[in-house]
Amino acid sequence: MALPLDEMTKIDIANIKMLVFDVDGVLVRRGTKIHQVGNTTTLETKVIEQEEIEQIKKLSSLGFVINISSGRGLYMLQEMFREVLPFVALTYENGSATWYKGKIYQHINSFEDLKDIFPKLKAIKSEKIKGFEPKEFIITIHCTEQLPEIENVVGQYPNLYTIWNGEAYDIGIKYHQTKALGLRMASKIFKLKKENVMAMGDNYNDAELLKKSGLPISADKTRVNGRFFVPLLGESLPANILMAKIISLVG
Ligand SMILES: [Mg+2]
Repeated sequence: MALPLDEMTKIDIANIKMLVFDVDGVLVRRGTKIHQVGNTTTLETKVIEQEEIEQIKKLSSLGFVINISSGRGLYMLQEMFREVLPFVALTYENGSATWYKGKIYQHINSFEDLKDIFPKLKAIKSEKIKGFEPKEFIITIHCTEQLPEIENVVGQYPNLYTIWNGEAYDIGIKYHQTKALGLRMASKIFKLKKENVMAMGDNYNDAELLKKSGLPISADKTRVNGRFFVPLLGESLPANILMAKIISLVG
């Protein structure tokens, strides 16, 4: 059973050197606004708040590696985190690659696995499909609600997964193309072990990430498990609460 974050002590984080944060529902509010008409795709960009910028800088100055791990694409993460780019590593598209100080580490090659399914998914006609989010390594389809046609097409490919997160489907290579891969490779870049890693996530695509981290924190107990949890629907964002807690313990 997860404990409320209030009960976290200095001892719990004694070995922690890297903090991994999911983005949507953790560093920013949930929800991606996307609109696609023909070949025109419109996406809303969210930016992190000033208080979180200061917290990230502070944690970095305290010696923590900050790894942001998202299902989003790199171009969006760079816009969202422009102000803190010198202080963070960006792991994107569910662990597919990591950007750090302008260098890109590619963790998986999904081209062969996804090239045949892509046109089949594009061919599905439904009012419920809002648009395909531009991605390089996974496929993300925004829908107003779950769409059996998409699940059926993906079901024909035993090597692929589909995750419905409440607003979109992520499609990628089963077991391999998850945030756990991103965590493993980011740990390699920074020469860290499992017990050095704290990770916070709120959604189904965070499950593998949280399992492989030494100290998992859930931002939505109904979707993912953690050693500690933060309520999803508080006034402050979950990452904001967690960073304040860490700073209070070590700062
Ligand atoms: Mg999330």
